[in-house]
Amino acid sequence: MAGGVADVDLALCGGGLQSALIVAALHGTGYGGSVALAESERIGGNHTWCFHAGDLSPAMRRCVEPFVAHRWSSYEVRFPGYRRVVGAPYAMISSERLRSEVLRMVAHRTGWVGREHTPVASLGEAAVRLADGRTISARTVVDARGAAGAAGACGYQKFYGEEITLRHEHDLPRPIVMDATVEQRDGYRFMYVLPLTATRALVEDTSFSDGPCLDEDERRWRIAAWLRDRGWETLRIERTERGVLPMPLAEAPAAGGAAVMRGGYRGGWFHPGTGYSLPVAAEFAELIAATPVADLPAAVAAAARDRRRRARFCHLLNRLLFRWYPPAARRAVFERFYRLPESTIARYYALRLRLVDKIRILGGRPPAGLSIPAGRGGRLTRASGRG
Ligand SMILES: Cc1cc2nc3c(=O)[nH]c(=O)nc-3n(C[C@H](O)[C@H](O)[C@H](O)COP(=O)(O)OP(=O)(O)OC[C@H]3O[C@@H](n4cnc5c(N)ncnc54)[C@H](O)[C@@H]3O)c2cc1C
Repeated sequence: MAGGVADVDLALCGGGLQSALIVAALHGTGYGGSVALAESERIGGNHTWCFHAGDLSPAMRRCVEPFVAHRWSSYEVRFPGYRRVVGAPYAMISSERLRSEVLRMVAHRTGWVGREHTPVASLGEAAVRLADGRTISARTVVDARGAAGAAGACGYQKFYGEEITLRHEHDLPRPIVMDATVEQRDGYRFMYVLPLTATRALVEDTSFSDGPCLDEDERRWRIAAWLRDRGWETLRIERTERGVLPMPLAEAPAAGGAAVMRGGYRGGWFHPGTGYSLPVAAEFAELIAATPVADLPAAVAAAARDRRRRARFCHLLNRLLFRWYPPAARRAVFERFYRLPESTIARYYALRLRLVDKIRILGGRPPAGLSIPAGRGGRLTRASGRG
């Protein structure tokens, strides 16, 4: 991209999670073609991405390894009725680490280039026009510029988090993926806690809510109260992050326009039941790295069909959660879910549910389970307490 025009095999538009996973997959599999990545701001943005070891194929686990900043051999969940340690390895990718590794991988390869502060103005099947007027022509263009447009009918996973240095060492041996013993407000609410070092932790106030409005002041106050209750004293807040992730109730219609390949959130490569992207975006990355260019359009179309099929069950769960259960009943749904076998929990996060898992998830009597509430004539009845 130094001159007016660049000619590459693969152009990646956007330098977020999806493009980083593609770079890692190409790097890890020894891709011999040329690559150009254009990011409008800073590669990786300001995120923390977590995943379970079982979310990724063994090959992608190896490729993603350099991005991992922290790992734990288990995590736990806490509900009023019980605590459970789930013996599944859990890992965290930080934006900083992801950015430095992407830049390192790109610098390592002849014919690879990654540019920050380089917005894409428009793109087509075989060319990308940058905002500064330059053009990249490419055999394959992937549009991974993140969310585009309205989310459609959905619930929301919302969070505000603080990465904190504590005055003293804490006593938390593993992440708490859900501490749902906290007061329930704005839907299902829980605290998400990652112990990063002996004196550093990421603490996020999270809710599964009906609306997208994120009240940061209230969440700041709630984090402070949670820390106070545990006797954790804040020395410094190092970093904050926030997110409002749509949890769709149905598949969004495919975006129209030119036959551009859409990756990441924009292409629907995320888990509708968790709002998280990593497991599904990694599948897309693996496909891009493993498929000859001529076969890519058909391979991506087939993979997208398969993903939509797998996502359908999660859309149903979202409809049950956000449309049929009143907010006050939602905690019981998760309390029951985390009593299921570890294998079902792992396959849920990986969006690889089997029939037996679906039966387990939908089993049980409401509101204890995510089962369909039995109404008159056995049909769905709207839960009370909601408009
Ligand atoms: C705070 C936070 C925490 C999260 N935690 C997790 C988690 O633990 N696990 C998980 O799986 N998911 C998590 N998610 C969800 C996940 O981050 C997103 O779904 C994921 O980043 C989507 O990947 P993406 O590459 O499609 O989009 P993004 O990562 O958003 O990347 C899109 C990139 O495109 C760039 N861009 C936009 N327009 C242009 C343009 N015109 N030209 C060039 N570049 C452009 C943006 O600047 C951005 O860097 C989290 C989200 C947030 C907000």
